[in-house]
Amino acid sequence: RAKHEGRSTFCWYTQDLDAEAQKRKEIEQGLVKALKFDQLKLKYQPQYALSDGSLKGYEALIRWEHPTKGMMRPDSFIPIAEDTGLIEDIGNWVLEQACREAALWPNSNRRVAINMSPAQFAAGDIQKRVARALQSSGLDPKRLEIEITESLLISNTDSVVHTLRQIRDMGVSIAMDDFGTGYSSLSYLSLFPFDKIKIDKAFIQDLGKEASTDAIVTSIVGLGRSLNVTITAEGVETEEQAILLRAAGCDLIQGYLYGKPDDVKVHETVQADMTAKIRSVKKTWATQS
Ligand code: C2E
Ligand code: MG
Ligand code: MG
Ligand code: MG
Repeated sequence: RAKHEGRSTFCWYTQDLDAEAQKRKEIEQGLVKALKFDQLKLKYQPQYALSDGSLKGYEALIRWEHPTKGMMRPDSFIPIAEDTGLIEDIGNWVLEQACREAALWPNSNRRVAINMSPAQFAAGDIQKRVARALQSSGLDPKRLEIEITESLLISNTDSVVHTLRQIRDMGVSIAMDDFGTGYSSLSYLSLFPFDKIKIDKAFIQDLGKEASTDAIVTSIVGLGRSLNVTITAEGVETEEQAILLRAAGCDLIQGYLYGKPDDVKVHETVQADMTAKIRSVKKTWATQS
């Protein structure tokens, strides 16, 4: 192989790296402005009880209304925010904004769930931030839920568990998100008394297609029963999935079938229709069996 060829390959490689680094730098700088100029928004996705079709609460999902690129989804900027440390400010904004908005919802029975990155726990003052957000918004702690993934429990387990306990002692619920996708989801269940487990949408989307997935989902629901943990299915897109989840005894469902992330006002308007839809799922199942 000619020397020249090797060199040009190397050049392309660094150019790609530069382009990638440049893109990240732009997003980083853009995020600083986003925080400053109110370009970050929270959209809410409803969570319904399968037992009676009642609307229990919402998950807050961050969006960036970028001045030129339009609405940006979190996967395009949260990882960069995590790498650059900006996630601390963004995470605090999410926490405060979600509490503030939920406290103003006309229906004070609805809960609000927020996602938290491991980096937000690294600063060491997250429990104080949660307490302050609750206090300044006046939100009942029982209405706040924090979703974490098992990646949080991989390192500094003792201090993280201690912090989670402090937050839970305030009355806030703790949910394990994306359950089943990590390496040892099960072992983390014995480390901390989670209030809720959210079955990852990858499993939900294979329901009715793979017998093994149906069995896994049914087992997770059973596990929830014995541990007294509420089970939520995320990513429910079809009636068939809802029927199977109902049959498995799953507690809560969240997914495009019952609402995409949007303004709470929008969801509250169609809530009665969705409740009826979920109740008919129950009936469908009852007549089938
Ligand atoms: P997640 O917490 O697991 O949230 C569920 C994701 O699935 C959301 O994507 C939601 O819009 C999407 N989803 C809900 N129902 C369906 C469905 O029926 N079908 C399909 N295909 N997707 C569905 P989104 O909003 O793009 O968020 C992606 C991830 O970004 C979240 O996953 C979460 O890990 C992270 N994220 C979102 N908001 C925040 C935040 O405020 N802070 C942090 N740290 N992370 C956030
Ligand atoms: Mg989540
Ligand atoms: Mg999830
Ligand atoms: Mg996720």
